[in-house]
Amino acid sequence: MKMSGLFLPTLFEEPHEAELISHKLMLRAGLIRRLASGIYSYLPLGYRVLTKVSRIVEEEMDAIGGQQVLLPALHPKELWEETGRWTAYGPDMFKLCDRRGRDFGLGPTHEEIITDLVRSEVRSYRQLPLLLYQIQTKFRDEIRPRFGLMRAREFQMKDGYSFDGDEERANKTYDLLYKAYGRIFSRCGLSFRAVEAESGLIGGSVSHEFMVPAEAGEDLMALCHGCDYAANLERAECGQPKEVLRGNLTELTLVDTPGMKRVDEVSQFLRVKPEQLVKTLIYKAGDQVVAALILGHQELNQTKLAKVCQKTDLELADPETISSVTSAPVGFAGPIGLTGIKIIADHSIKGQANLVVGGNKADAHYTGANYDRDFRIDLWADIKVVQENDRCPRCSGRLEIRRGIEVGHVFKLGTKYSQAMRAVFIDEDGQEKPFIMDTFGIGVSRIIGAVIETSHDEAGIIWPMSIAPYQVLVLPINVQDEAQWDMSLKIYQMLQREGIEVLIDDREERPGRKFTDSELIGIPLQIVIGSQTEQTGRIEISIRRSREKRFVPLEDLINEIKRLISTLEPRVSPY
Ligand code: ATP
Ligand code: MG
Repeated sequence: MKMSGLFLPTLFEEPHEAELISHKLMLRAGLIRRLASGIYSYLPLGYRVLTKVSRIVEEEMDAIGGQQVLLPALHPKELWEETGRWTAYGPDMFKLCDRRGRDFGLGPTHEEIITDLVRSEVRSYRQLPLLLYQIQTKFRDEIRPRFGLMRAREFQMKDGYSFDGDEERANKTYDLLYKAYGRIFSRCGLSFRAVEAESGLIGGSVSHEFMVPAEAGEDLMALCHGCDYAANLERAECGQPKEVLRGNLTELTLVDTPGMKRVDEVSQFLRVKPEQLVKTLIYKAGDQVVAALILGHQELNQTKLAKVCQKTDLELADPETISSVTSAPVGFAGPIGLTGIKIIADHSIKGQANLVVGGNKADAHYTGANYDRDFRIDLWADIKVVQENDRCPRCSGRLEIRRGIEVGHVFKLGTKYSQAMRAVFIDEDGQEKPFIMDTFGIGVSRIIGAVIETSHDEAGIIWPMSIAPYQVLVLPINVQDEAQWDMSLKIYQMLQREGIEVLIDDREERPGRKFTDSELIGIPLQIVIGSQTEQTGRIEISIRRSREKRFVPLEDLINEIKRLISTLEPRVSPY
């Protein structure tokens, strides 16, 4: 492709609309343009990258027996009502009405649609297993669309669904998917961690997220230094501390803490560390109320507490409930004298002595509070958000907290959807059984953001060879110089004949501008043709990532380019 005719509006200035480096670079390198919040157009270079990522996804899905389909984006309300998700999915779903007043949703995900298709077409175990996937535009009215393609409202997702007849086979499918995902991200040039995850709204039991470690990530994960334990922070468990002797227990004293409700206020006022304080949080689910105890410097993990209580609708109690169970205004709850509700304490309180707890009385706290002696604990559990250096639940290692970009997700759905939608088949034994399903997604467009976020320098994008919009850029310094231009054109045509994806910068621009654009758009290999080329008879190849230069005679050029293309191809992890 000749750059003079390429629709490539590059920008010098930092675009105001972008915060993240990947987003800025995507705009500056002319890959995308914003139409409205979270809605983008792909320009030619951006679309080429998207197509390449999609191709890798397709190849790896097909390699494990996946079959590609394309499902509608408009979903009738009735199907989503069968699973209760028409309401449960909430305002993230775009909803609209047709001319006859029928309700539709724009698909944010396709479990209902695929389950409906399979229940009407598949009757027998002989038609199983089935692994169907699509690459399609998804719509989600995200609360905070941001970071360009990373959190968009209209985006490209690969979503897939598997249908198996028995657990064993379903587990095999999950394993195949897990490995295929690893290959996909490696081939896109991403380093990633597969982390244990919460199943969220979709439901199901086991799930893994594929995270690209990056400061810009919106997710937090806990990674163990000692073993391969890795989990999304929402789910991350904490190893239990060994109970230690509590030493001397001091006297329990009720002290005045006028107007001091927050941990920092109380700890400053009483001159104790936040770790010496106990936060008593009152939660409720329906008419059940519980008190959850954690230390002052910790956060409560509501998902874990909800699991411990076996309640999906657990929420922080309202001020009325809090005052009625503690007889104190909000901010002074404590476990002493708390009756009628279950007291659940985090394991990390075990072994702690002489704590400060709320007084269950306005403007008062207790010091010298000790469990067993001064208050009871009904249940010890792991209910706090894991913190840096906490103990790993699997080994004695320490956990590290890192940010990550979620690029993919696999769930074991089991029979959740097939039961809700009565999707059944007749098994070998003549029995009617619900399909066992997995669901799995990849943020195809988000991958582009994640790649740029982790692969760029101050001058621009550094594309991995596998998804670069073009593999080689031929850059004649002066197109007016006939010898330079002829040589450049010859090389360009030679590369094209070899099936190499090549751009030629035939623009009558200053060399400075050409080099700046070239670095910005990040084509992995650049061939520079200048006055030196003729004199030395050697052609300059420069490698975008390492900025290394090599000089080769014309007759070796094609072989050298081919060799570089293959060595620069991202390595696939041994998954
Ligand atoms: P997130 O926690 O980031 O909102 P999710 O759990 O809602 O993701 P899934 O429903 O599992 O995501 O969707 C599958 C994949 O689609 C995700 O792993 C992610 O890579 C991608 N994805 C999800 N939401 C968006 C979005 N708003 N913009 C771009 N990609 C997205
Ligand atoms: Mg989401």
